[in-house]
Amino acid sequence: MTKTDYTFCEAVAYTDLAAQYGTPLYVYSQEKITQAVTHYQQAFATLQPLICYAVKANSNLSLLRYFARLGCGFDIVSGGELARVLAAGGQAAKTIFSGVGKSVAEIEFALNSGIYCFNVESLPELARINDIASRMHKIAPVSLRINPDVDANTHPYISTGLKNNKFGIAYADALTAYQQAAASPHLHIVGIDCHIGSQLTDLSPLIEALERLLLLVDQLAASGITLSHIDLGGGIGIVYHDEPVPDLAAYARAVISRLQGRAIRLVLEPGRSLVGNAGVLLTTVEYVKPAQTKNFVIVDAAMNDLMRPALYDAYHHISNITDPAGETFLADIVGPVCESGDFLAKERMIAAQSGDLLAIHSAGAYASSMASNYNSRGRAAEVWVNGNQHHLIRRRESWSELLSNEQSCLC
Ligand SMILES: *Cc1c(COP(=O)(O)O)cnc(C)c1O
Repeated sequence: MTKTDYTFCEAVAYTDLAAQYGTPLYVYSQEKITQAVTHYQQAFATLQPLICYAVKANSNLSLLRYFARLGCGFDIVSGGELARVLAAGGQAAKTIFSGVGKSVAEIEFALNSGIYCFNVESLPELARINDIASRMHKIAPVSLRINPDVDANTHPYISTGLKNNKFGIAYADALTAYQQAAASPHLHIVGIDCHIGSQLTDLSPLIEALERLLLLVDQLAASGITLSHIDLGGGIGIVYHDEPVPDLAAYARAVISRLQGRAIRLVLEPGRSLVGNAGVLLTTVEYVKPAQTKNFVIVDAAMNDLMRPALYDAYHHISNITDPAGETFLADIVGPVCESGDFLAKERMIAAQSGDLLAIHSAGAYASSMASNYNSRGRAAEVWVNGNQHHLIRRRESWSELLSNEQSCLC
């Protein structure tokens, strides 16, 4: 099987998976996930980093269980994600809780579970964690998420490290915030972190952010606050189309050169780069509809299964599995949802006939985890492939499941 052979996932034909499980269907390759994790572990080997997989990229329990088996920790952004990590056998002691809006119930749950630390995003949040820890007679481990104010050069919706973003504590307020945390008997300062954005293909802004954080680390040390870790977040991009391949090894070398000799542990929070290119979304062509100005290929997957094109105008490569060498024509590839924003690809050369199986590539990250029930569409099934083995890791949602949380009122 060659890299360009799009008709197989490892040793399993996509057509067999579609026949057995139906479409739309997410398919994940264990081998590709293993390779991605190994790539990180090897690149950063000398620093022995804690790799905390960002659960929001894809939160399927089997996937989380596999990351736990590989020794990963987890970066979570909600109580629901913590419940998933624990259900998957992940260690709370390797779990980091990020996010700007942690509720009282979520903070209590995390403290009771014994997470590694909270990535604190604001002073009001620091005060809330302090109050809850005090009430629970606990000491909350905290790391402050600092906004380094560097431009990540990515899509505005996934850029998070600029002054005007809602994320993190302003760089200028960092020292005061740390002093406030250090003064509380209910808080234990463990680290510092940042996460400047997602889908970065030029990794130099990450190094700029690291250097800005190291200045703070030194200033803190001078004022008697020593940190045990520095967390550089996630954000490493993947190749969806023709973007430059982010050079993880070069990034790792740059980080190593700046951290060597310092007694500080490295933490990373990659999401997309561990799973994005390990998954595809299989979909069947319902209709080919020639219209006045353009052709539409209408498929059974939609924006509720893969929101990225609608949300960010994102590109996903699409290939015809049934007829890879078929005659191509120019078309928009769209779903059945009643929104003009429901497209998976625009103005694409594609071969397609009713009944053909298509693969939407790079659908391992921010696809199933962003899925919704819009238009009362059940969420798609997910399958795990390992060599010639395949396992259903999420059943297709049935119509009765769609209705199961609702009650008839007496209206
Ligand atoms: C989303 C997120 C990540 C993961 O980002 P990727 O671009 O998927 O690597 C890491 N850390 C935080 C705080 C996040 O919000």
